Amino acid sequence: MDGARRVLDGDVLVENGRIKAVGPTGRRADGRAKPAVIDCKGLVVLPGLIQAHIHLCQTLFRGLADDLSLEQWLAQRIWPLEAAHTDASVHASAMLGAAELLLGGTTAILDMETVRHTGAAFEALESIGIRATAGKCLMDAPPPANPPGLRESTDAALTESADLCERWHGAAGGRLRYCFAPRFAPSCTGPLLRAVSDLAEHSGATIHTHAAETPLELDTVKRETGHDEIAYLDSVGISGPRAALAHCVWVDKDAIARLARQATNVVHCPSSNLKLGSGIAPIPEMLAAGCHVAIGADGAPCNNRLDAFEEMRLAALIQKPRLGSDALPAAQVLELATLGGARALGLGTEIGSIEVGKCADLIALDLAGPHAQPEDADLISRIVYSARAADVRHVIVDGKIVVRDGELKTADLAQIRKTANAEIRRLRRSVGL
Ligand SMILES: [Zn+2]
Repeated sequence: MDGARRVLDGDVLVENGRIKAVGPTGRRADGRAKPAVIDCKGLVVLPGLIQAHIHLCQTLFRGLADDLSLEQWLAQRIWPLEAAHTDASVHASAMLGAAELLLGGTTAILDMETVRHTGAAFEALESIGIRATAGKCLMDAPPPANPPGLRESTDAALTESADLCERWHGAAGGRLRYCFAPRFAPSCTGPLLRAVSDLAEHSGATIHTHAAETPLELDTVKRETGHDEIAYLDSVGISGPRAALAHCVWVDKDAIARLARQATNVVHCPSSNLKLGSGIAPIPEMLAAGCHVAIGADGAPCNNRLDAFEEMRLAALIQKPRLGSDALPAAQVLELATLGGARALGLGTEIGSIEVGKCADLIALDLAGPHAQPEDADLISRIVYSARAADVRHVIVDGKIVVRDGELKTADLAQIRKTANAEIRRLRRSVGL
């Protein structure tokens, strides 16, 4: 994955967290200090996969909200559980999710946390070593739009967001960044959305929200604002290259043209859209119109995996019954999961490909398993259609080894599991679930 989409037999030299050279096997950049070597002979080295829509705060809720529509899923399970979160449970949830992501080859995410305890999530992200743009969820619309346990005043929501941005945007040597994260249009007032647009513009942070996920959501926005949702979001400044809109399932020609014109990032979440019964986003139509598209697993309770390989494979497959077997071929999907994600995070020049000068976010895949053989088949096909998260052998983020030989090096996985289980038991007791 470079400018020319070349597949090379070669070495990647990393220095000070950046890619210093990419060249033929056996020829390292120069004769200076001998670099430490990770032997990747027989492995496939890729840019780390990027998921531009994740809710780490929901990882603990995996398996607790199955087989519900979006509206039931939110009201009956997700909102009460999010409202019951503490610093400790948000931290545990982020550690569990980030461990799964790193072990599965996802090196960078755009993450929407819950309303409170976002600092605890950032502390987890800082220690575990994933690249993340994360933000506190904003929900200021009065009831019944939001549950009382999560709703905040517009001022409180914006003040805490600005403080978190000040503290975390650019932290950990730039590995951590902030996003302003209005939950979705029905949860937020117009003044909040306009203020978010201004704050993002001033700080250089990303805007991360959901849009056009279900027909009910579109009807609600239309009833309350008189506008189609994508046009409404655009009118309050939630658009453009700084904004990432998850889902965009229910978009017509006008909405697609507007998303393309504004260079707004669309984040496709195929598993989530299928599991919640939301629909199939018209991604090939959006790409043809010039839209910028990334992919993401969304939260653990609506997927239930945080597996970029699963999302890539499904992104390709779900379009084919509707548009024909040549819709969204493998190579295009791999771009969505790398360069598309990089662009959605505002890091298009920093990550998403193996090119000299970019950050060293790299993964090494072992495709020796029978499910990815024979080896002479097209490599991109083997990565997108055959590979799975468990095939990831090594992961490097910002030049640091975070997974080696399939083992997480930055945290104790047994401890993460133990803490996660204790925290979700406590949360379930507290909400009576
Ligand atoms: Zn989501």
